[in-house]
Amino acid sequence: MSKAVKMKPVRRLVPKKPSNNILKDPVGVYCRVRPLSQDDQECCIEVISETTIQLHPPDGIKVNRNGEFKETQYSFKKVFGINTTQLELFEDVAKPLVDDLLHCKNGLLFTYGVTGSGKTYTMTGSPGQGGLLPRCLNMIFNSIGPYQAKRFVFKTDDKNGMEIQTQVDALLERQKRENQSALIKTPKQRLDPDVADMINIEDACKVEGIDEDSVFAIFVSYIEIYNNYIYDLLEDTPFEPIKPKWNGCGTPMRSTEFIPPQSKILREDQNHNMYVAGCTEVEVKSTEEAFEVFWKGQKKRRIANTQLNRESSRSHSVFIIKLAQAPLDADGDNVLQDKEQICVSQLCLVDLAGSERTHRTKAEGNRLREAGNINQSLMTLRTCIEVLRENQMYGTNKMVPYRDSKVTHLFKNYFDGEGKVRMIVCVNPKADDYEETLLVMRFAEMTQEVEVARPVDRPICGLTPGRRHRNQAFKDELTRKLEERGGPINGDDGSMIDILLQSFPPLPSCELVDPSDEQTLPALIECLEKRQRAREMLIEAFHNQVVKTKSMIQNFEGTVSGKDNIIQEQRAKLSDKDRVILQHKSELDRLEKKTKTLEYKIEILQKTANIYEEDKRALQQELDTKDQKLHRQLSDNRRLEARLQGVASETKIKWEKECERRVAAKQLEMQNKLWVKDEKLKQLKAIVTENKNERPDQPEKPERPSRDKDKVLLRPVTPSPASSAPPVRPRHRRSRSAGGERWVDHKPASNLELDTVLQPHIPNAIQVSTPSEKALSKCDKYVLTHQELASDGEIETKLIKGEVFRTRGGGQAVQFTDIETLKQESPTGSSRKRRSSGNIPVQQEETTENEWTDVETRCSVAVEMRAGSNLGPGYQHHGLPKRRKP
Ligand code: ADP
Ligand code: MG
Repeated sequence: MSKAVKMKPVRRLVPKKPSNNILKDPVGVYCRVRPLSQDDQECCIEVISETTIQLHPPDGIKVNRNGEFKETQYSFKKVFGINTTQLELFEDVAKPLVDDLLHCKNGLLFTYGVTGSGKTYTMTGSPGQGGLLPRCLNMIFNSIGPYQAKRFVFKTDDKNGMEIQTQVDALLERQKRENQSALIKTPKQRLDPDVADMINIEDACKVEGIDEDSVFAIFVSYIEIYNNYIYDLLEDTPFEPIKPKWNGCGTPMRSTEFIPPQSKILREDQNHNMYVAGCTEVEVKSTEEAFEVFWKGQKKRRIANTQLNRESSRSHSVFIIKLAQAPLDADGDNVLQDKEQICVSQLCLVDLAGSERTHRTKAEGNRLREAGNINQSLMTLRTCIEVLRENQMYGTNKMVPYRDSKVTHLFKNYFDGEGKVRMIVCVNPKADDYEETLLVMRFAEMTQEVEVARPVDRPICGLTPGRRHRNQAFKDELTRKLEERGGPINGDDGSMIDILLQSFPPLPSCELVDPSDEQTLPALIECLEKRQRAREMLIEAFHNQVVKTKSMIQNFEGTVSGKDNIIQEQRAKLSDKDRVILQHKSELDRLEKKTKTLEYKIEILQKTANIYEEDKRALQQELDTKDQKLHRQLSDNRRLEARLQGVASETKIKWEKECERRVAAKQLEMQNKLWVKDEKLKQLKAIVTENKNERPDQPEKPERPSRDKDKVLLRPVTPSPASSAPPVRPRHRRSRSAGGERWVDHKPASNLELDTVLQPHIPNAIQVSTPSEKALSKCDKYVLTHQELASDGEIETKLIKGEVFRTRGGGQAVQFTDIETLKQESPTGSSRKRRSSGNIPVQQEETTENEWTDVETRCSVAVEMRAGSNLGPGYQHHGLPKRRKP
């Protein structure tokens, strides 16, 4: 036998609190409406669709305070009307649970409703109308029939677990038990025809996809919960009719006179499943056997109820079908001897007590108390469902009072562990039940809102599938071959010996009573000789057989050695393959290493690339910043350039104007100088001619007679520049200045009065000692009378004339155009100080020249007065550093 592959244990520890990622299904609630019985007339229930029923309040029942009738509707997963057959119900409700059971998942199915509503009819059925229970059994055995384990291969332990033993041990145990039961053999009762009718199920249905490489065993147990006590209905104690004896608390009392049924307690196994401790679990191999066991329990229940004066409708019955399955070993011949590989699942079929309230039971005394208790357990069931629903719907964490009653405690793990739960609500449409039916409907609707964790699939066994079939095929082939070679070797040895023994002649009587008996001994001798011959024949036959067997063994050995050779060959091939595999492995290792190196390199390159990328980004940023800076600078430069160009052009224009002005001034100065020199030359000429002609009376200047007149008294040392053609404005004449134009006559206060005849007289003039803007604005001509003390003690008077212009700024400007010079002896002598220039050289010629230059300088000064100037009547000189106060 090859070693079994070790696997994870199939039995899982179910988490106490299912976490959120576990799939959940709501409790499947179905409704079955039974037909009205002949005694009842009024019907208060109507099936209005496949999933909905409607309740009509019967006559005489006021539903609300207004006394109005109210019709209510209730919806379920499916509603089964009065014509529903047992088979239809089974197909829809129980079949999936059987399917789950055979796939190692737990299931719970219970019927709920008032007494007489058809709970028992639905669960157990009636003759010819098998209910869900016999149908479930039938389906189970149909499915596992050929794959059932031999009895006692699986053994239940006392902790709700399952053990496994070899087929040989199981055989020994079987024989032991058979011997025991043979001692107290009771004649086998024939199956009750009614029972046979119930399990005679024509539609043999089967679960698909069951594991054919496993072996299965079914164990059933049947318990009753009455008055919150659990009783084992399959317990083997011979039942004695018992008279009830109760203590004050409604508990059955032990008594020496009676042997009351022992109540059982509930325990929790290591998987948190609840079980009835010490409960009988009967291994059954067929539907008939299983149903017989059930029927036995049912009978016991009935008798106990009668004997103990119980209200039978007040008890809950629970039929538990437990399925154990374990995989076959690798050869597909024997069960794998691994406890961990056993998978146990169970289907509980519960026929609950009638849900009606106590007053309806018409019970009295003890029975009333019991009834109350039973109602209490159904109350607990309702409370548990309510709390569960609340916890699930509102996320609360209220404690579910499972422990308050045995029924709820037993099924605790279906609700907070995992399993499929289904409920059939049975209703009797009769009017009497209306009020109770209403309560049943409300509870049923609420139950639908409770969710139960969906059982998870068991892990698949690691052994090769199809082991069983392969093994069977091998066995068949072997038998065929042996038959070919002269029949099976393992003939019936026992019978052969018997035949041999029978073939020996029987020994005659060898009692010697008479010494002269001559017949007995010869007869004995003859018989013994015959026996001797037979023995020799047998020995010979045996030897022949041995020889035959030997040759067979030799043949077999030949075959075996042939097989050995083949095996050797295969081994060699295998080792070749192993070598190839090793090579491949080393190649794989090398490639893996290479891959790792390459991966490492890639990683490094990736990192380097990242670094470069970052650098690039930083540089790009820097570049961008610099670009922006450059752009800014460029635009700044352009702006500056534009501004500078503006300033340059402005300055250029200004300086051009200034230059023009200076050139003009210089030209004027030069012309003046030229003119002075001309004049001097003329005077020299005149002096020369005078000296020659001894002062002629009349000056020889016919072109300027008016001037000559003036010059008689005023000995002109230097001719007035105005007397000849003025350089700036040649058409400017004195006569014109004395005409209609207005003059500003500027005579500084320090001037001396000259008592000469030829006083310069300007009519229509405004006389001022300091020029003011007001005066200037009224006139268009300006004349300054300037006195100086010459070196020879004469006073030199100069008349400096100019024209007044309006400036653009709104002020007045004077442009000097003409100078006239007069000389006269100083009335104050040489003591008079020269005002304008303190250190004039003594030489007249030079002085004159200097003065001219000086005056000329002043002539070029433009006196500008601006309107609103803060200098008041002040003025500004332009362009010349030399300044004199007027
Ligand atoms: P419960 O167990 O709820 O008290 P039972 O199953 O004992 O009720 O049913 C009471 C009676 O009604 C039985 O005689 C049963 O045969 C009959 N009955 C119940 N349901 C049906 C049904 N669907 N079709 C025919 N008869 C029914
Ligand atoms: Mg019943």
